[in-house]
Amino acid sequence: MTTAVALKRYEHYIDGEWVSPAGGAYIASYNPATAEPWYEIARGTKEDVERAVKAARAAFENPAWANLSQTARGKLLRKLGDLIGDHADELGRIESLDNGKLLREMGAQLRGLPDYYYYFSGIADKIEGAVIPGSRREILNYTLREPLGVVGAIVPWNSPLSLASSKIAPALATGNTIVLKPSEHTSASLLELMKLVDEAGFPRGVVNVVTGYGEEAGAALTRHPGVDKVAFTGGSDTGSMIAKDVGARLGRVTLELGGKSPNIVFADADPHNAAIGIIAGIFAAAGQTCIAGSRVFLHEKIHDEVLGRVIDRTSKIKIGDPLLDDTELGPLAIHEQLEKVKKYVDIGANEGAKLVYGGTPPPEQPKGWFFQPTIFDGVNNDMRIAREEIFGPVAGVLTFRDEEEVLALGNDTSFGLAAGIWTRDLGRAHRLASKLNAGTVWINMYRAMAPQVPFGGFKGSGIGKEGGWEVIHDYTRVKSVWVNTSDAPTADPFVIGR
Ligand code: NAD
Repeated sequence: MTTAVALKRYEHYIDGEWVSPAGGAYIASYNPATAEPWYEIARGTKEDVERAVKAARAAFENPAWANLSQTARGKLLRKLGDLIGDHADELGRIESLDNGKLLREMGAQLRGLPDYYYYFSGIADKIEGAVIPGSRREILNYTLREPLGVVGAIVPWNSPLSLASSKIAPALATGNTIVLKPSEHTSASLLELMKLVDEAGFPRGVVNVVTGYGEEAGAALTRHPGVDKVAFTGGSDTGSMIAKDVGARLGRVTLELGGKSPNIVFADADPHNAAIGIIAGIFAAAGQTCIAGSRVFLHEKIHDEVLGRVIDRTSKIKIGDPLLDDTELGPLAIHEQLEKVKKYVDIGANEGAKLVYGGTPPPEQPKGWFFQPTIFDGVNNDMRIAREEIFGPVAGVLTFRDEEEVLALGNDTSFGLAAGIWTRDLGRAHRLASKLNAGTVWINMYRAMAPQVPFGGFKGSGIGKEGGWEVIHDYTRVKSVWVNTSDAPTADPFVIGR
């Protein structure tokens, strides 16, 4: 597709400067609500990545960063948080234009984003080693918690700045430097953020962005031997490939991957709240969230009532321009995603699931990559629509009889990202929370996250955590130091044990 108007052009951000791509090529980025290009980004290659990693390594060793006190690092993060707060509305608008998510949602996400920086700013000067009481009085044992070096961070298109910030903030709080590769579909907000990184006063090279395709710029970054740790958010297949590459050089990796999360409603649950929780779980952001509650388990006694309420509210969802205030469901972020959703709807119908709502693009939206909220009933946990991540507005409803059965079905998945439980029975809620094989469990709520709370999946949903104190371990290494404080002569090694 071409356009007569010259598109705004973004370059890479390397070593504090805007740098043209070594290969001289650019990639157009599309607005999913209009299917038209609205800016272009540099197409990064191995050479660009080389340059960025070199800059990040030099910054890591530069006294301007390496010798900065932990308190001073924290202050820089706080400043960046303040600046993001000042620019939240414009950054939210860019993300909405880029990924089609509601302006209301992206605006709220961006207004909350400074909290990530404030949280890690607060942690920065509380990162400590430990003094370890040893078995011998004269030996002093202590540990140093050190940064890892250069972090390579790769993020997808669904929440670009939020997912990038959950890597930037802990990486910098712990004294690392970072090279980011955003999704080729949604790079603008992260590039705009670099202006704020600059303004906050971070030394050059501490934060760098190389844009481009995953298999090209992304793979060059994850395979670069100078990258000490890769922090990746994206699909499970990509994550698995990256883990192999990084593992081959014994590097460190954090993987935040996909899900097929169960949202379980027991017979004693409040039917209204549960119905709203189901809709929030699967139709918010048009289902394009890793934590989507895409497997909806309804107890047989309340199946009809809760499903009826879900369908009723779903039928009133207002589909349209994500920038408008009254829109409730925007388009899918990329064209391939629309095709994928259509394919899975066909698969579900062929597998024998019963389509009870949606199933097609909305006829009233001829432009853009829209798809109706879609509900399949009579889903069986062995069907592909119950096993594979669709990443779109498609809910599969399964019926269960008792706690034991739903626990087994809920855990019968290759993923383990999140789960929801709707019940008024406190004992059951906690029992299930401890037995569900998922990194996050919500009870009588769904889809909440906070910088203070660890987030990360089990099994095929990933390795490591983002958020909370836990993440500090993922961005640091521990060194043990032994000090002999005795004046006594060093013992002859051959007398030991005599
Ligand atoms: P994706 O895996 O296709 O791409 C993610 C990022 O990886 C992009 O920047 C892409 O350019 C890059 N990439 C692709 N191939 C690569 C390669 N070979 N080497 C290095 N980088 C490569 O995923 P997507 O379609 O952009 O995003 C959707 C996926 O992200 C879903 O599976 C979703 O569940 C997952 N996700 C997970 C979380 C989480 O926190 N667990 C959050 C959001 C999204």
